[in-house]
Amino acid sequence: MHSLEIKDLHVSIGDKEIVKGLTLTIKTGEVHAIMGPNGTGKSTLSKAIAGHPDYTITSGDVLIDGKSILEMEPDERARAGVFLAFQYPSEIPGVTIANFLRAAQQARLAEGEELDATAYYKKLYSKMDMLKIDRKFTSRAVNEGFSGGEKKRCEILQMAMLEPIFSLMDETDSGLDIDALRIVADGVNAQRGEKLGVLLITHYQRLLDYIVPDYVHVMWDGRIVKSGDKSLALDLEARGYDWVKQELAAKA
Ligand code: ADP
Ligand code: MG
Repeated sequence: MHSLEIKDLHVSIGDKEIVKGLTLTIKTGEVHAIMGPNGTGKSTLSKAIAGHPDYTITSGDVLIDGKSILEMEPDERARAGVFLAFQYPSEIPGVTIANFLRAAQQARLAEGEELDATAYYKKLYSKMDMLKIDRKFTSRAVNEGFSGGEKKRCEILQMAMLEPIFSLMDETDSGLDIDALRIVADGVNAQRGEKLGVLLITHYQRLLDYIVPDYVHVMWDGRIVKSGDKSLALDLEARGYDWVKQELAAKA
């Protein structure tokens, strides 16, 4: 069992504090969903954990198995097992998915070590079979002219190839049509298990009909203000976020 611990995390962009003391522990085998209205800092949280240079962690800590990752470069964090699925993956014209994934695998190896091509393709094809992805898919250029669903398929395949311990998935509702939603859900469900912990960020309750989370957290103004099980997501869908706001105001 592995743990990803977020401890009283504060994150700023420039001099504006966005994440204001967020605490959450995710263990392998668990799927946590963070929901919350736009602008509450959900994307900021995931980018800060992944080590994006624009996001400054001013206090608090992020630990994997008790060891802080904050001094690590983004690629070291990736090697430590953190995968960040990008909300807006970029196009890489002329680079096929197969070659892109191969470079990503190569980057994981120690210096001087060569990736075994046969083993690589074996792994790639077994992951594609698991995810029911057509072989033709990997000869296309990364994200070039991709539909929303194809972008998601590429991202899910990348995650499967990297075999992360913790996957941070930031999903907006925009661009997530039913096709893309199913691809993400099937992909996550196929990889779900004792070896993987998932932090699924969304304000789209519908995704949680397909990926049933173990825990649901509501993020509001940079903090987690409410946690529960999957029924909390249903409450949010039925009653919106205003109800959480009123509850907060009543407590204050
Ligand atoms: P969410 O994902 O919950 O919608 P974000 O983390 O994207 O929220 O944004 C939280 C706040 O941080 C918003 O007020 C947003 O305008 C601001 N913000 C996000 N990214 C940047 C940035 N690169 N530069 C300045 N402000 C940003
Ligand atoms: Mg966001």
